Amino acid sequence: MFVIGGGPAGSTIAALLAERRRSVVVVEKDHHPRFHIGESLLPMNVELFDKLGLREDIERVGMIKYGAEFISPYHNKALTFEFVNALDKRFPYAWQVRRSVLDEILFKHAIAKGATAIEGCRITGVEFPSDGGVLATGEFEDGEIRRWRARFLVDASGRDTFLANRLGIKHRNRRHNSAALYGHFSGARRAPGRAEGNITIFWFDQGWFWFIPLSDGSTSVGAVCRPSYIKSRKTDLDTFFMDTIALCPAIAERLTEARLMAPVTGTGNYSYRAERMTGDRFVMLGDAFVFIDPIFSAGVFFAMHSAFLGADTIETCLDRPQQASRALRRFDAITRRGIDTFSWYIYRATRPALRNMFMSPRNILGMEQAMLSLLAGDVFRRSSVRARLLLFKVIYYVSSMLTIRRTFSAWRQYRRNLQSG
Ligand SMILES: Cc1cc2nc3c(=O)[nH]c(=O)nc-3n(C[C@H](O)[C@H](O)[C@H](O)COP(=O)(O)OP(=O)(O)OC[C@H]3O[C@@H](n4cnc5c(N)ncnc54)[C@H](O)[C@@H]3O)c2cc1C
Repeated sequence: MFVIGGGPAGSTIAALLAERRRSVVVVEKDHHPRFHIGESLLPMNVELFDKLGLREDIERVGMIKYGAEFISPYHNKALTFEFVNALDKRFPYAWQVRRSVLDEILFKHAIAKGATAIEGCRITGVEFPSDGGVLATGEFEDGEIRRWRARFLVDASGRDTFLANRLGIKHRNRRHNSAALYGHFSGARRAPGRAEGNITIFWFDQGWFWFIPLSDGSTSVGAVCRPSYIKSRKTDLDTFFMDTIALCPAIAERLTEARLMAPVTGTGNYSYRAERMTGDRFVMLGDAFVFIDPIFSAGVFFAMHSAFLGADTIETCLDRPQQASRALRRFDAITRRGIDTFSWYIYRATRPALRNMFMSPRNILGMEQAMLSLLAGDVFRRSSVRARLLLFKVIYYVSSMLTIRRTFSAWRQYRRNLQSG
């Protein structure tokens, strides 16, 4: 098995397959520990750490996150959703983690399970020869070129989207458009007590902010905005970021005593999807297939979930080739189910009707609990969560009709935003 990329998706599948006595090579272009954005995890991720036997390791380095707080200037209030109130009560919390730390734990775990893990080598080419298998070519930092032959390829190259680029099947998301600026602060004012580790989402006119407290005392802050707003920048990135923070008094207030610890980073238009995630002798995992938006902090969970599903799928492909196409179709269907469930909320997350429903939740037929289950990442099972989320959508459409003028003007703004990207 050959895995491109040693992030959460690549390291997880490498560990799972190596544990099942498969020969696995995972190649990472960088060296762990390396910086990566995406620090807020979901409760459903805890189940995956349990299965890997890593809960205690993550517990040691993570900041415990019992819930998510939403702050809306349009409603003049803050509301906290606690995961303990979700329909599935088994995972009442998650963690905020430095990704350099988390990703190194996962990478080392793959090595401990028997995978051959190589760092500092960028995969530059893959071929699928007619006599079977996969040929991969990599270039080390000193210029050395190495080739590998394997039976199956896993593309876990993240936003580099190695295979989707090569196959020409990566497309910008036509339904979503945003860009992010982010930095780490010392001295940010956190929520008191048990809520200290919660993520806070602040809405403002240009988009939304995340506020993620980390266990080393620093706080990750990011602004996710319309690309046209980011393009309007006339100052350096740090100044522009601080000016953007000033546009949202609620987060600015939390940062009055805070200091930026390193220069601000910007990520341009980042929403994309590949046409397909499987093929003869390959699967794509995590961000190598799709990335939409970080508002629900689901990226790491999705990446690891696709690795768990991918490991079973690959075993079927190798051991029972006559069932391969069925296994690949199932992998595709389950993965899309989770992604599509989240996408519906992501596309509407900055529209008034959805904000209203988030800020005034009503537990009609367990709908509020279902929303919490969504926030916890419980989107892959065919559980009662799905039926309740359907009810949520019905109420959303009804309330959009009742406020048709506002809905229309929000929709027009959304279309303008898509065109400006
Ligand atoms: C602004 C922003 C904020 C986010 N916030 C969150 C959040 O709060 N919570 C959350 O869960 N997710 C968040 N995400 C998403 C999250 O970061 C990703 O979904 C997650 O990292 C995906 O994991 P992955 O393993 O698929 O890819 P990655 O973590 O990107 O790992 C891919 C690895 O492949 C390596 N690689 C790439 N190309 C090659 C090559 N050719 N050869 C060898 N190695 C290669 C890379 O170096 C990298 O280490 C955020 C994303 C963005 C953009």
